[in-house]
Amino acid sequence: MSAPDNIVIKTSPTDNVGIVSSPSGLEKGAPLPEGIVTTQSIPMGHKVALANINAGDPVVRYGQEIGYAKSLLLAGSWVNETNMEMPKPPDLDDIHFSPHPVPKVEPLTGYTFQGFKNADGTVGTKNVLGITISVQCVAGMTNYITSKIKKELLPLYPNVDDVVTFNHNYGCGIAIDAPAAMIPIRTIRHIAQNPNFGDEVMIVGLGCEKLRPERLLPDISDHSSILYLQDEAFVGFEEMVDGIMALAEKHLKKLNQRKRETCAVSDLVVGMQCGGSDAFSGLTGNPAAGFASDLIVRAGGTVMFSEVTEVRDAIHLLVPRAVNEEVAAALKKEMKWYDDYLRAGQADRSANTSPGNKRGGLSNIVEKALGSIAKSGTSPIVDVVAPGEKIRTKGLNFVATPASDFVCGTLQLAAGMNMHVFITGRGTPYGLSMVPVIKVSSNSKLNDRWFDLIDFNAGPIAFGEKTIEEMGWELFHLILDVASGTKKVSTDKLGLYNDLVLFNPGPLT
Ligand code: CA
Repeated sequence: MSAPDNIVIKTSPTDNVGIVSSPSGLEKGAPLPEGIVTTQSIPMGHKVALANINAGDPVVRYGQEIGYAKSLLLAGSWVNETNMEMPKPPDLDDIHFSPHPVPKVEPLTGYTFQGFKNADGTVGTKNVLGITISVQCVAGMTNYITSKIKKELLPLYPNVDDVVTFNHNYGCGIAIDAPAAMIPIRTIRHIAQNPNFGDEVMIVGLGCEKLRPERLLPDISDHSSILYLQDEAFVGFEEMVDGIMALAEKHLKKLNQRKRETCAVSDLVVGMQCGGSDAFSGLTGNPAAGFASDLIVRAGGTVMFSEVTEVRDAIHLLVPRAVNEEVAAALKKEMKWYDDYLRAGQADRSANTSPGNKRGGLSNIVEKALGSIAKSGTSPIVDVVAPGEKIRTKGLNFVATPASDFVCGTLQLAAGMNMHVFITGRGTPYGLSMVPVIKVSSNSKLNDRWFDLIDFNAGPIAFGEKTIEEMGWELFHLILDVASGTKKVSTDKLGLYNDLVLFNPGPLT
């Protein structure tokens, strides 16, 4: 019996392992190309040796060494985390940037979307009343008030999509002058400036907290959008509620005047992220997202990719893509900062890769990182943004964040993201209320099972039914439709939203 086409997928011609693409996996004795036969049953997404790999020899996927055989791995055998050693991470001191002409990006014209233009030049993809808090103490009140606004006020302002409160856990009991405190503080500040809020954010504070609400709005002289519960003008709970409702109504009136207008793709700020990845993520979903990234960049737009621990092992492939020496140095600096952060916590990079990643065929962080960076496409990296900072430059940015989905999403919102693309292989109901999240499935098996939770199936790429290019264009068009409000993503239809979670490397008191 000869091997059917596409029974295993090689990601690069020099690979000595293939990925099992069949949804039911391969039985022992299944024929593979070149007369090889599986020596054991191997699940979907897992690696099979396509040649004998001697003890100590490299296991190669994506044309890169993802591990070293612990003992002889026979052709046809299952290659996984138990039978290979993980390589050391690339030494940052050994990675040198060589100046090069920045590859010319061929402009892409003729594409637009319908968005909400803001006075500061940013563009929203949703029209949302944002409420932020200066301290967690008031969260019970803001939860109460948010549902009251939704019930009583929102129906009166049909152009406003939603009311969203950022109930973070920061604000008091903190070492506010510790250097690392800047990260959560600027994150809260910059989320309030997200384009979808149209500069109409209100702040509810307590009154005695360390993080002064004024500190969250340093550029604004008018502090009429700040309300303190300890304000002596309020006698009792009902008066506080009335005070917040009146403030909300003032902002809703202004937001209701926002109308969608034709906007250039250069107004898009797309955050790329993956979560619950599997071995297909780097074959299908991430490359399709990378192709769409390149299209957005060619059209003058902004794309960010993140997740330091998921690019660390591929940093030698990213540094050469920096536009200049400064950007290359900034990339390495963020890697170094995170190496030190993990070391201080007595953790190392093997702490990334979840049990689900491994069940999905990702043996270690090296293999995961090589697939993860595919979503950055091929564009030059124009800037590096520290955690909680805002994007400064259009084009492809690296925004340094932890890989944890909801922490990364929170920091990408702070960076100014107005559209989110999230690639998953194992499946997650992840969603954000502030921006639409397009969920991309890396394999058709997940898409079939989660038919009402996945927005885009990149699975057909695995079997050659569609090309990365075709699916990249389809995803690009979907991004424009969702940004225009003409298509709704599943998490918006179902109202499935995660909490935002601050990255706080600083001490509590
Ligand atoms: Ca993630």
